[in-house]
Amino acid sequence: MKAKNIYLLLIIIMLMVSACQQEKRTASIPISELKEKVDAFVKVKLSSDLSHLSANEQKLIPILIEIAGIMEDIYWKEAYGNKKELFKSFENQALKDFAKINYGPWERLNGNTSYINEFSEKPAGAQFYPEDMTKEEFELFDSPNKSSLYTILRRDKDGKLITIPYHEYFKNETNKASSLLIKAAGYAEDQGLKKYLELRAEALLSDEYYESDIAWMEMRNNNIDFVVGPIENYEDGLYGYKAAHEAFVLIKDKQWSKLLDRFSSLLPDLQKTLPVDKEYKKEIPGSDSDIGVYDVIYYGGDCNAGSKTIAINLPNDEKVQTKKGTRKLQLKNSMQYKFDKILFPISEILVADEQLKHVKFDAFFENTMFHEVAHGLGIKNTINGKGTVRKALKEQYSALEEGKADIVGLYMVSQLNDMGELPEKVMMDNYVTMLAGLFRSSRFGVSSAHGKANMVKFYYFKERGAIIKDPQTGKYRVDFNKMTEAMNSLAKEILTIQGNGDYDSAKRMIEDSGYIRADLQKDLDLIAKQGIPKDLVFEQGLNSLGL
Ligand code: ZN
Repeated sequence: MKAKNIYLLLIIIMLMVSACQQEKRTASIPISELKEKVDAFVKVKLSSDLSHLSANEQKLIPILIEIAGIMEDIYWKEAYGNKKELFKSFENQALKDFAKINYGPWERLNGNTSYINEFSEKPAGAQFYPEDMTKEEFELFDSPNKSSLYTILRRDKDGKLITIPYHEYFKNETNKASSLLIKAAGYAEDQGLKKYLELRAEALLSDEYYESDIAWMEMRNNNIDFVVGPIENYEDGLYGYKAAHEAFVLIKDKQWSKLLDRFSSLLPDLQKTLPVDKEYKKEIPGSDSDIGVYDVIYYGGDCNAGSKTIAINLPNDEKVQTKKGTRKLQLKNSMQYKFDKILFPISEILVADEQLKHVKFDAFFENTMFHEVAHGLGIKNTINGKGTVRKALKEQYSALEEGKADIVGLYMVSQLNDMGELPEKVMMDNYVTMLAGLFRSSRFGVSSAHGKANMVKFYYFKERGAIIKDPQTGKYRVDFNKMTEAMNSLAKEILTIQGNGDYDSAKRMIEDSGYIRADLQKDLDLIAKQGIPKDLVFEQGLNSLGL
């Protein structure tokens, strides 16, 4: 045997030995605690009624799910790296389960701390940049593509930074996904969907998403929807530049879509009924609805990591937004799962027994839907020449606008009810379910605009006796008449502050009550102690759909 061959043989043997001795990775917290963390994500089977789909539409679904699986593979590479090798290094099932939920060895709902001994902190830039790259090095790097949403940064053989476009870096995956999109387009009966799938297939090969985003905005009559590609940039914690891959396979809820069209056409009339002086409602709201209701049948990649989205608002490209606006997709089956597994169990702990019957999914869904619709009511411009409401209220704007959407949304339900548009509606359901919803969202704190708005509402209602805590049982109940009064007066207050561009009052409102006080915190601790799940994890795919 020649010397060269012996060397080769030696190298092969060494490689084989090292593969067998692959290091085992272990949890840095007790396994019992790890199991509790896994159990905080309650498992649900993701499904929907597909019986109304045509034969061709039924054939589309498995192809879209296959593409979503490819987005999943790419996302693993972006978030962590080599998934296969990671899972091989685990001997414990809880470790495998938790790594699957978190897409890596860091706990997403706990500040990305590592729960595995062999890993320290998560790199802020995930795998979008070399792990050893400093911010200084990035600033000094002279490249027109370094901040692109669609490039990866790596080092060349001399250690210098280079950019690689996604369609090159993930070439195998994007080529495959692209050809599957073309195949899917062949089965698409709706012309809008067909065009979008074809343009998206091109986009994955060039990283130019504009045309396909426009086509997505123009889809109207599709039964199936498909969000796919590099989309949100939260995974890049370093700069927030890089978009992470994901996919949602969606089925349109025809019945709700029809209802929404009806409500949209009523918006100008509803605007006139708002409980505020005339000048604060003088703008005429658009009646073209951009809100749709869908069931999700597959979450792939970014959107499946950690906490699960129940609403989508896309596209993110401002050029597309200026030209076409955005579409808001409400994910009804996921909301139902969250209601059943999280919201109702919370209500059992904190809502008075005799009012528990009013905590209903339909009310939860209406409250959420009309929140979105209500963003379109009120006014966008101040009435006293201070410019737009957004500009006048500065950093207080978002919290106040979310508060407006909540309260005016609730008001809309009551108005539509009075107009006979919502048959057999019991308004008390919406009130009590809203209260239960407040407890659910307060668990996530008040760092978001939504969180602050929730607390403003909670204390506003409490101070006016619209919600009352029983000192004996520790449970809360709603006073129907006082709640109706409080709803009207809070709507009036917020709409007036917005119309006046009254920054000081907005600030006072948020600062005075936009936080969790000790008494409520105790209630939230009670929920935590009872082991109510924090979020969902999906059993999904063709089996779950019965295909
Ligand atoms: Zn909102």
